[in-house]
Amino acid sequence: MTKGLPFDETHPKALAVYCSDGRFTRAVEALLKAIGHQRLDTMTLPGGPALLCTSGANLSEVDTFTRAAHFLIDGHGITDVVLVAHQGCGYYRNRFSRIAAPQIEKLQLEHLTAASKVLQRRHPELTVRRFYARAADGMVSFTEHADPAPAQPANKFQNVTR
Ligand SMILES: [Zn+2]
Repeated sequence: MTKGLPFDETHPKALAVYCSDGRFTRAVEALLKAIGHQRLDTMTLPGGPALLCTSGANLSEVDTFTRAAHFLIDGHGITDVVLVAHQGCGYYRNRFSRIAAPQIEKLQLEHLTAASKVLQRRHPELTVRRFYARAADGMVSFTEHADPAPAQPANKFQNVTR
């Protein structure tokens, strides 16, 4: 029997959706801590967020995975979702074997955006952040992909007086 570990009755407010690839698990947990979430619900399957959009997986996979996400968000009062894709993902290599590596990353980013829209359509209040994980020199780093800020109205001539 193992020694008791602390248990907190309350549900975490954050949900991380990422790939099963265990080489990234600790890094994803550390990322969540770094952005203010000490505890997290998790959804992990090979491909992670790819399974939330029909361009990333087949309909029955998307249906199951999306239901599970909605269940956690509604049932556990999730306010923040973090979607993580990673470099060298075996799911993508297998599923999209005809696509070259540089294009795979672009596809993964498109899937992160699509997945985020799927969740926000049902839960407009939800904060969804998208990250891409890379490994180099024995370290994992994350790049956040955010939507560009709305363009400022052109004020080029603001200070021109006639
Ligand atoms: Zn993967």
